[in-house]
Amino acid sequence: MRRVYMDHSATTPVRPEVAQVVTKYFTETFGNASSVHAFGREARKGVETAREQIANLIKAKPEEIFFTSGGTEADNMAIIGTALANKDKGKHIITTQIEHHAVLDTCKYLEKQGFEVTYLPVDAEAMLDMETLKKAIRKDTILITIMHVNNEVGTILPIKEIGAIAKENNILFHVDAVQSFGKLPIDVNQMNIDMLSASGHKIYAPKGIGCLFLRKGTKLSPIMFGGAQERKRRPGTENVPGIVGFGLAAELAGKEMEEENKRLTKLRDKLIDGILEKIPESQLNGHRTQRLPGNVNVSLRYIEGESLLLMLDLKGIAASSGSACTSGSLDPSHVLMAMGICHEIAHGSLRLTLGKINTEEDIDYVLEVLPEIVEKLREMSPLYNSIKLERREECSKCTLTK
Ligand SMILES: *Cc1c(COP(=O)(O)O)cnc(C)c1O
Repeated sequence: MRRVYMDHSATTPVRPEVAQVVTKYFTETFGNASSVHAFGREARKGVETAREQIANLIKAKPEEIFFTSGGTEADNMAIIGTALANKDKGKHIITTQIEHHAVLDTCKYLEKQGFEVTYLPVDAEAMLDMETLKKAIRKDTILITIMHVNNEVGTILPIKEIGAIAKENNILFHVDAVQSFGKLPIDVNQMNIDMLSASGHKIYAPKGIGCLFLRKGTKLSPIMFGGAQERKRRPGTENVPGIVGFGLAAELAGKEMEEENKRLTKLRDKLIDGILEKIPESQLNGHRTQRLPGNVNVSLRYIEGESLLLMLDLKGIAASSGSACTSGSLDPSHVLMAMGICHEIAHGSLRLTLGKINTEEDIDYVLEVLPEIVEKLREMSPLYNSIKLERREECSKCTLTK
């Protein structure tokens, strides 16, 4: 059976060039990067090369890159570290309702510690309005933390504009760029970014490696203690193979970005157009154009996302959904809720995220299989025909199909 992986926003396969260098650093160049002997010096060299490769991709300086265990840790480090370092200046933080839980739950933790957090609303396409942001700024605001690309619906937020507003108001600006790093051009200076989180496993490097960009001179209290590694910002023996693999993956992503984005945009639009054309009562979630090249997120009415995922899995297609189960709760995705999409439509959401390994044949296969599955599921649902009309009225208020 054909196997089609369309869940690249969840994780990616390690690309062969990266796997090769990672293996070398596991078995041959295995020294502790802090050791003074040749084994240690060789490992150190690998770490410092990776630091340069990553800095280059976002126009930062190598000494502004701090390796972490991934995007989650980088988000925690940036947000808690800034809060602790600036608590005498103020206790107010601004973020959005559509952040990843690594940011949202960290903010919730800080609220329990006496900080105040404003969660900005977004519009029906998950876009943030700059006037809303400006109005939320207070004298005691110490941090703005906003994601670059939303991981569920793929909307690209106006980071440059947000950075300009943060700078104008002398507020630190952190960006969760896990979904854009290596996929969209980033210039931390042009965009006025003070801190930025990135992760290896979303760009064809191993899981468990990531980094925080921290602008030189930015105060940050450490949240971990125990060693002098990463200039005491992040103690613990460095994950040298992961770091080296992450560095190479970043460099390759930068080189291939333009061409790969063209290819993915074409595949994405073919998939979106095909779904909307072939499946009645379907709609696109997220922004039509300000959208990550590989992201497709649609709602298919009267369908439960979980059943759809199971049926797709039986056909060899790996995707994800913004409804229950996947997140371990009965609530539909907080992102779709923030966009004002009603429960009914949010529960039938399907996310297909494309990447390097996808081809046009994969798109054709999904376009052949998905409409059949949706039809079958709708037929099987005893509720579908009986309360369809009633539900349709209920949902008409949030119809986003344009
Ligand atoms: C995947 C992801 C994270 C978490 O990164 P990990 O390296 O898996 O910890 C954080 N934010 C966003 C937007 C993500 O997509």
